[in-house]
Amino acid sequence: MKKLLFGILINIFFVSRSFSFSYTEDNRWLHSNEPVKYKINTTGAPAGAITAIDAAFTTWQNASYSWITFDNDGTGNYTFQEDNINSLSWGYAFGAVAASANYDYYPITEKDIVFESSLNWSTSTPPQSNCFDVQNIATHEIGHWLRLKDLYAVADNEKTMYGYSEPEETKKRSLTTDDINGIRYIYKTVKVPYDFSFLYEAVNDVSSGQQVVITSGNQTLSNDETVPSGITLLIEPNATVNLNGYKITTSSGTITVEEGATLSPNIQRKTQYYSILKGLYPSIASAISDVATNDRIFLGPGSFTENVSMPSYCVLLGDGKNSTTLNGDVSFTSKTGSDILRMAVNGDITVDGGSGIFIYNLNAYDVIDLDMGYNHEVWDVTTAYDGYVELYQTEPLIDEITSTHSINYGVMSYEADFSMEYGTYENKSRAVYSIARADADIA
Ligand SMILES: [Zn+2]
Repeated sequence: MKKLLFGILINIFFVSRSFSFSYTEDNRWLHSNEPVKYKINTTGAPAGAITAIDAAFTTWQNASYSWITFDNDGTGNYTFQEDNINSLSWGYAFGAVAASANYDYYPITEKDIVFESSLNWSTSTPPQSNCFDVQNIATHEIGHWLRLKDLYAVADNEKTMYGYSEPEETKKRSLTTDDINGIRYIYKTVKVPYDFSFLYEAVNDVSSGQQVVITSGNQTLSNDETVPSGITLLIEPNATVNLNGYKITTSSGTITVEEGATLSPNIQRKTQYYSILKGLYPSIASAISDVATNDRIFLGPGSFTENVSMPSYCVLLGDGKNSTTLNGDVSFTSKTGSDILRMAVNGDITVDGGSGIFIYNLNAYDVIDLDMGYNHEVWDVTTAYDGYVELYQTEPLIDEITSTHSINYGVMSYEADFSMEYGTYENKSRAVYSIARADADIA
């Protein structure tokens, strides 16, 4: 069904509600189809009309944080009608100074502008007496191309999108902050799969201040992707991102995964403070290869199958003991200040040397501390049916266990073994009472 939308300019003073800008929801050009081409019909136009119209398009194109671009595609005898050609012409403007029309709501596929041929037009600066300025009116009407709507309030009367004009006016040639905010609101975002089919196309296209939104569907990566500085990548709830062996990372851009979005697999690297998301990874090892000091690697709900060799100053955390399962062994060898927590580990957790390894809130087959470590702690760990916790530790650690209840709240399964190589019987006893079920074998 055809829908004609007119942007009408008349010189009547009128009071209405005030908006900083106004536009038609979900009605815009697609990024994949730009630059938007236009043709000019110079019949009835004043001399210099092409230059004036080009300048009007350039004004909008230069608005920052917006991706929309235009291309003068020449002249021709095109009129104000649906013909798959975006045209600007002189003719009957339905009683207005000028009018614009589009023929589809989303996306826009054609837009025309007509300037009223019975009026007097000028392209000079300042405009000729009693003439409408082509660039002034064209800039307003191109705002309608982009889907901005007229504003009629007195407070809006300096804006390009103010819906009234008069002869010799030129203030609409340049955009106000609100006009720019309007165009930025509509054309800041590049949508996948609407504007582009693939994430890499969108990421490669946008510039600082813009954002890429994966709105729906399944995006399967075919390359590593970097979200550039100043760019936001937003993954919306209906979208699935299949990493397919690749990663999405950023250093000074922004990655946001909304609740309900699906990551396959769901492995996220975040900063320690504020949990700022820095990367999505196809494996824990690939995330570890990128970690900075005190980064956290989050494993979402589900199963992950790999053996993990933890670095220093890194937290590996899951969604919970009953929702995240790691099928593999986890080793901390001569590492300092790292944690593992909130998951089930179908394998052994081994600590060998180092210091300050915290093992919290886990199910695991076995937890083994081989030797020569300092200040390692085990809290709230449930071992497998016949699993064990072995702590071959030095005196300082035994003291810490007894004084801080480092193994407090732990539960060892039936027939599990607990052994502690060093420490006094009393210390061992206190630690063991706090962690072991009565039927566990305490050595
Ligand atoms: Zn208008």
